[in-house]
Amino acid sequence: MKIKAAEFIMSNSNVTKAPKDRLPEYAFIGRSNVGKSSLINMLMERKDLAKISGKPGKTQLINHFKINNEWFLVDLPGYGYAQISKKKRTIFQYFIENYFKEREQLVCTFVLIDSRHDPQKIDLEFMQFLGENQIPFCIVFTKADKLGSSKLNKQITSYKKKLLNTWETLPMTFLTSSSTGLGRKEFLDFIDGVNKDVAKDFK
Ligand code: GDP
Repeated sequence: MKIKAAEFIMSNSNVTKAPKDRLPEYAFIGRSNVGKSSLINMLMERKDLAKISGKPGKTQLINHFKINNEWFLVDLPGYGYAQISKKKRTIFQYFIENYFKEREQLVCTFVLIDSRHDPQKIDLEFMQFLGENQIPFCIVFTKADKLGSSKLNKQITSYKKKLLNTWETLPMTFLTSSSTGLGRKEFLDFIDGVNKDVAKDFK
């Protein structure tokens, strides 16, 4: 897929206010600092695209981008901010939860995981939530360039093995690096394929 247009549409905290265009939608989420903005910029070949949603006040919102006039890329708030008070955290989870439960055109969620880390409770709980709500997701391992290839392979294999303790089958996974561009083609080909598969439902 060639990225011909990547346009910021809106930010909001209420799924009912999200864009009405009937286009397939892909959400990006992960712990803060996982490399989400870098990945979005790398995929879109835009230096500053995800900066729009990274501006003060917007990191806690649902940010919609329209890509090639064909699909939406949704940049969701990073979870696991230690500094968010309990009260704020509840509100945060509530509107994100609503987004996932109510956004009908959401076709796939990309859960970003830092390649260097072992499974963390917050990520596993989030995947559990997606599973329980039958929301399709893929795992995207980020920052692959930070480990040597044998350590990287070992780490990914071990991560998947641990997931199989609770999951019967593994979701699709991608290995990416925003520094080297690793995984870009595979990732965009996947979205292209899904867009084609779901086209008839979006007529
Ligand atoms: P976000 O908070 O999830 O949006 O994370 P950012 O994209 O802002 O990245 C957090 C930090 O990790 C920044 O210092 C990035 O430069 C760095 N980073 C992100 N992706 C990569 C990557 O693929 N490789 C390397 N080496 N560093 C990365």
